[in-house]
Amino acid sequence: MGEETNVFYRNPFADYPMVARGEGIYLVDTKGKRYMDACGGAVVSSIGHSVREVVEALKTQLDSCEFAHTSQFTNRPQEALAGLLAELAPGGLNHAYFVSGGSEAVESAIKMARAYWVQMGRPEKWMVIGREQSYHGNTLGALAAGGNPWRRAIYEPMLYQRPRVAPCYCYRCPFKKDPAHCAIECADDLERAILEVGPEKISAFIAEPVVGATAGALVPHDGYFRRIREICDRYDVLLIADEVMTGMGRTGKWFAMRHWGVVPDMLCVAKGLAAGYVPIGATLVHDRIVDTFTNRRNVFQHGHTYMGHPLAAAAGVAVINYIKEHNLVDKSAKMGEELLRRLHEHLDDHPHVGDIRGKGLFAGVEFVADRATREPFEPELGFKQLVGEAAFKLGLIIYPMAGTIDGRRGDHVLIAPPFIITKAQIGRLVELLHKAIDKACDTLR
Ligand code: PLP
Repeated sequence: MGEETNVFYRNPFADYPMVARGEGIYLVDTKGKRYMDACGGAVVSSIGHSVREVVEALKTQLDSCEFAHTSQFTNRPQEALAGLLAELAPGGLNHAYFVSGGSEAVESAIKMARAYWVQMGRPEKWMVIGREQSYHGNTLGALAAGGNPWRRAIYEPMLYQRPRVAPCYCYRCPFKKDPAHCAIECADDLERAILEVGPEKISAFIAEPVVGATAGALVPHDGYFRRIREICDRYDVLLIADEVMTGMGRTGKWFAMRHWGVVPDMLCVAKGLAAGYVPIGATLVHDRIVDTFTNRRNVFQHGHTYMGHPLAAAAGVAVINYIKEHNLVDKSAKMGEELLRRLHEHLDDHPHVGDIRGKGLFAGVEFVADRATREPFEPELGFKQLVGEAAFKLGLIIYPMAGTIDGRRGDHVLIAPPFIITKAQIGRLVELLHKAIDKACDTLR
């Protein structure tokens, strides 16, 4: 369960239940046990399982054309999806480069930033700055940009060394500030890194608007991304927003960058784009970048076989239409407030809950051994995993995350249910989570 469960199939050690079907916010296994999917798998299933309209759209697309290569044809669903994304994305991000998932979207952005600077006559600009406590995917370029030490460790010799800057981690501020006296030093850390390496070498800065997979929903200071945009502009550095988890309504707006009115140069999206019905990702690109690729000689040297796949794009269109028709972005915002309220109500006094945070239906809970000192649990205890396993037994699926605290692992869980969740279901979710945390604590005694 969670980030350490990648298995090879026919794995003799895997003892997962076999999924039989999905029903709204529930998954049912072949023995008939129902699980509340309170994290959409890995923050994927945003509209719930087995939505008839999406299934019908896929059948219709299959009846007309299952595949045509994008070097030979465009197709209606990908044109329609690109149009919808241009309407929903922050201003100027009018172009979509379709791929098959989040890592590919990030790789495309990193390479596009490089290609852009080459075309602008500045080929020395190639290095991407990323943050500590970040995750941008598992392919080599995306892994190099991310700051997740244990995912990187064995591949380290294969990863380019890139500068890293401080995370926005208010509960454990790297600058030892409390939020009331914060001057957004973590944003200024980007300027320090740019000047240290030399702006002439830096092509882009990449960041998750709300950090997911390494830290359980770290929300930045409201002024953070505005300052980051200023710094990027000052030094001719492109800003890549990695919205693979936060995009498509997850934080209560179509894109999280809209909370702060900041327009990145590129924006990566995946997970919620087709909500798990078919794999798809996209890099949304600003007009001014695309304008440099407009003639045949300047074609963007990149590509994957399945880009712009008609079935994946048809799923994306159907998911966006469903979200619009049912007002699900507003629901994500409202139910997100309810989720945070309930989490605080149940867990604020829990001796092992250190922090509760989030935006929209994207919430994180951080566990500690000692609330007063904020001392984390010993990593060997695997506390987050104990909570995740106890929840699973109770029929609740949450996403355990190992963050980095002073270079060690920390314990977090992500809670990111489908936007169709009701108030009553949120109540049940939080009750089950509370029980799971208590059970995990019992196993430590
Ligand atoms: N970027 C972010 C912010 C992610 O959270 C993830 C996956 O969790 C990725 C990129 C990689 O996406 P994928 O697993 O689809 O390659």
